[in-house]
Amino acid sequence: MQKTDVIIIGAGPVGLFAVHQLGIKGLQAVVIDNLDKIGGQCIELYPDKPIYDIPAVPECTGEQLTTRLLEQIKPFKTKIFLNERVDEVRQEKENWVVKTNNKKEFSAPSIIIAGGVGSFEPRKISLKEAEKLEGKSVFYAVRNKDQFKNKRISIFGGGDSALDWALELSKFSKITLIHRRNEFRGAHHTLSEIRKLEKDGKLSIKTPCQIESLDNENQLKSITIKYDDGKTETILTDVILGFFGLIMKLGPIAEWGLNMSKKTIEVNSNNFETNKKGIFAAGDICSYPGKLKLILSGFHEVALASVECFKRARPNEKYRFEFTTSSKTIHNRLGKK
Ligand code: NAP
Repeated sequence: MQKTDVIIIGAGPVGLFAVHQLGIKGLQAVVIDNLDKIGGQCIELYPDKPIYDIPAVPECTGEQLTTRLLEQIKPFKTKIFLNERVDEVRQEKENWVVKTNNKKEFSAPSIIIAGGVGSFEPRKISLKEAEKLEGKSVFYAVRNKDQFKNKRISIFGGGDSALDWALELSKFSKITLIHRRNEFRGAHHTLSEIRKLEKDGKLSIKTPCQIESLDNENQLKSITIKYDDGKTETILTDVILGFFGLIMKLGPIAEWGLNMSKKTIEVNSNNFETNKKGIFAAGDICSYPGKLKLILSGFHEVALASVECFKRARPNEKYRFEFTTSSKTIHNRLGKK
């Protein structure tokens, strides 16, 4: 069991800034995230898309924002646990104890839930054979593109993920892009590059059709697709990449007895505490009158929640508000002379 001052659930921008706000108050935190990388929605959903409403940063991508936040919290040497889904929470005297799916346990007087829209899970192909081949020839994400070199790949979906990977992997593999409609919802400029490749015979596009069957359940060799008019076609395939979008799930947090409304956690806007003392929620996952789902709102929310976390972690100390410009204590904590 690891003891700390605050357990932060979610390694998106709001969770990362919570580390900063706690750190300058002298509090230790751990961050836990279900995803395999830091950055939350802004890395998972729109890593390259510009964000224009971070104060004093006219334009940055989700990736740049995450990098800068990590730089900002570097002095606090916070441990970030990835690929860990928080499953259970229980109270032990003054502390909350959380347990992850990998049986890791953390204990702290406060929890800040900065879980965005919940955990993301890919929508999968609903064929039994696809389930058996998952991780072998059927994938819903590209973690290491070298794995997909020199293969015959059938990519499913009409969104940005399908288009981006069709374009990228076509550099070294034979790609068939398959979508249920003739229209693609992904970026037009990517689609026009893909159309150019199709014209040059370097990639095939099949629409409007869906997967009908996988033709061998032990070692994938080909798949059969069915067009809307009922015709079928067999395509030689070593690998299937399915990009059918992500399903957002609040997951086990929904079972913790917190007051919820429309899949968000109700908080008060004085300190962003939920109906359970010591459990706070901030960012897109929380709701209160007037809530705006902006990254900057999440920053404000964790700043206020961190004050209450201080009071819970240091009940015998008086909280003193200090400016980062003038506080020697904060400068020391940030490693500044
Ligand atoms: P997405 O945009 O939700 O697209 C999912 C695609 O799968 C859609 O084309 C949808 O078809 C199709 N689909 C869904 N269920 C299906 C089913 N049961 N059978 C057949 N087809 C099905 O998902 P995504 O491409 O993974 O992107 C998720 C989010 O991340 C989006 O907001 C996207 O813009 C963002 N993203 C951005 C970038 C980037 O900025 N470069 C890269 C990747 C992802 P319909 O079109 O017919 O609904």
